[in-house]
Amino acid sequence: MTNTGDGVLIKAFSGDERLLDFIDAIREEAPPLSDITGLSYVPLEERPETATFTIIASKTTDSTRAVIPPDIATCDDCLRELKAPDDFRYQYPFINCTNCGPRFTITESIPYDRPKTSMKVFPMCQKCHAEYEDPADRRFHAQPNACPDCGPQISWHDAAGKRITSVSILETAVNALLSDSILAIRGLGGFHLCVNAFSESAIATLRSRKNRPDKPLAIMVPDIETVDSFCIVDDHEKKMLLSPEHPILLLKPRSTVPLAANLFPDSGDIGVMLPYTPLHHLLFATSGCPSALVMTSGNVSGEPICTANEEAIVRLATIADNFLFHNRDIVTRVDDSVVKYIAGQPRLFRRARGFVPSPLHVPYELPQMIGCGGGLKSTFSLTREKMIFPSQHIGDLFNQASYAFFTESVENLKTLLKIEPEGAVCDLHPDYMSSRFAKELGLPLYEVQHHHAHAAAVMAEHGLTEPVLAVVLDGTGFGTDGTSWGGEILQTGLCHFSRLGSLETMLLPGGDAAAGEPWRMGMSLLHQTAPDTALTTPLLTAIDDSRKKIVWQMLENRFNTPQTSSCGRLFDAVSALLGLNYTASYEGQAAMQLEYCARKVLSNGWKNRLLSVLNDQSAYLFKKKSDRWQIISSEFVKNIVYDISSGGNRHEIALSFHSWLISCISRLVEKLSETTGIKNVVLAGGCMQNAILLEGLIFTLTELGLTTYTGSKIPINDGGISVGQAVIGGLKHVSCSTDEG
Ligand code: ZN
Ligand code: ZN
Ligand code: FE
Repeated sequence: MTNTGDGVLIKAFSGDERLLDFIDAIREEAPPLSDITGLSYVPLEERPETATFTIIASKTTDSTRAVIPPDIATCDDCLRELKAPDDFRYQYPFINCTNCGPRFTITESIPYDRPKTSMKVFPMCQKCHAEYEDPADRRFHAQPNACPDCGPQISWHDAAGKRITSVSILETAVNALLSDSILAIRGLGGFHLCVNAFSESAIATLRSRKNRPDKPLAIMVPDIETVDSFCIVDDHEKKMLLSPEHPILLLKPRSTVPLAANLFPDSGDIGVMLPYTPLHHLLFATSGCPSALVMTSGNVSGEPICTANEEAIVRLATIADNFLFHNRDIVTRVDDSVVKYIAGQPRLFRRARGFVPSPLHVPYELPQMIGCGGGLKSTFSLTREKMIFPSQHIGDLFNQASYAFFTESVENLKTLLKIEPEGAVCDLHPDYMSSRFAKELGLPLYEVQHHHAHAAAVMAEHGLTEPVLAVVLDGTGFGTDGTSWGGEILQTGLCHFSRLGSLETMLLPGGDAAAGEPWRMGMSLLHQTAPDTALTTPLLTAIDDSRKKIVWQMLENRFNTPQTSSCGRLFDAVSALLGLNYTASYEGQAAMQLEYCARKVLSNGWKNRLLSVLNDQSAYLFKKKSDRWQIISSEFVKNIVYDISSGGNRHEIALSFHSWLISCISRLVEKLSETTGIKNVVLAGGCMQNAILLEGLIFTLTELGLTTYTGSKIPINDGGISVGQAVIGGLKHVSCSTDEG
């Protein structure tokens, strides 16, 4: 048996019957982490020389179908040994085995073998080596195998990075946490910034030093019982928390949570994860350790997470009070993944640790291509044969530091997968750094419309090849007419699309500035629906009259007011009109607050109410305007303004808005389904991260006899754009122009 670049090669010699049983057993009794994507066999040309079981050292070959596994959370066997005083790895922070531990984050090239990982600088001691060589041992060929005698170690440092010797580093660390210090802890795919999640003052300091005033902070808790005590968590969610991937899961907090109030100031979901490295487990096992720790990315907001010790000392100098380092180098930067269950399925909001670099399998051949992604929540994707390899989440591509992370990751993943793209795909937006990167590659270039890419990503995940109707509700994306799109109903194939409908266009006062300042969108809709009273209504009162007047003038004179059909901006407008958010401190904040506001009155009876809106002919409005159908949101906004002005319940208004939008879209899709004969509906776009919206749409479209598809393995937000691009560009590169229409 040997590991080759093509996969595992087994030479077995026996009678026919037993060989067939053996082949069955490979599938049926496969180890827990294995993923058999193909199995083929041919007769041996000659009888093997050895009759015993031998494992032969890996061979490097040119073709490389084998893939690097993702990083896996500490397994139960390792955890037992970690806590057993008589085990020689007792309390060793880097314990791992073939079933768990670092993989992608330590791998430099393939095949995946120790000399090609950052473990190469730690020669194994005799004990570890014996395990590594023994086929019967759990650590047989565990590349990062190590013990306290031969492997990596942790160290404790002050704010300036100076090493401080300590009898018990973990006790010192816990004491620091208890006195509100901010720790920078080097982890698996990068640094975490860690504080006591019960301390408002520690969190306030972290927020101000990290320049992250409101965005919820993820926490780590020691076990599933603690998760249960803080949040509402069902069996599927528990299973996901305990899965080998151990992602951050977004959960609804219980009504009385003892955690610090400034942890999730918008009172929405809490991001919770369980310990996934031995060091995390040891930290929680240290006497006095708080049962919830903030574990947020070790970066300055907007920049990539730090991975190297020296880099952290410089970049986190103004944030961290102490550093908890280790000396096992992180080759590839990988953030924590983020998952939320919506409509009974896990939805990846951020696909990174634990999931990357696993491929997505599609039912068609793709040439070697690179899809370069969008601007926000950026990722890129590489393709080969029938596989798409989406990169880890890279973040918003708006500064040099993120761009460097992007280009370094492209090189790294190309090397690991031995993919040399023959074509590049990018967004239509000319100013995205990812578009410029794609153009500079000098390869055949394919430009793909943003929402077409969103829809194609979902089609790829579900292996759909026939044209579908796609509802893409999104923040913003460059349209083929040069305006900003974002609330689209498309007829989409894998190569072509047409725009059949959209939300009514609105004016964006100040262009991009409107995205960060929802009150401007509120003003825009007031101007559109009630221009005479826009400046005198008792809405948007927290905004200075002088600022309102300036924006009103812009709208009157159509000065710097580009058009948009964005769903995100419509949510912003309603959120501002309801007084929930005037100025957003992070992307999607106003829309999230609107969802949480509606959630307060969301009950089991909600779906019946939704059906009555759906069946009320007068409630939904769409008109054929110019070349497409438009959903007349301004009419509904008029009702909202009236309801707010007459003292209506905000939560009810927020929920009615959701119901109205869901019904309108569903009825328009039904109409388009009748004219096109298409019954499959794809749901995508960043706004679909809104659970009320996505669940509602799935429910009503299903009621109307349509079949819905949405993303579960690939993010439905802009993190999935590169997947759709790679498919569209790849198929265009080999054939397209001929088929579909
Ligand atoms: Zn293990
Ligand atoms: Zn050892
Ligand atoms: Fe998007």
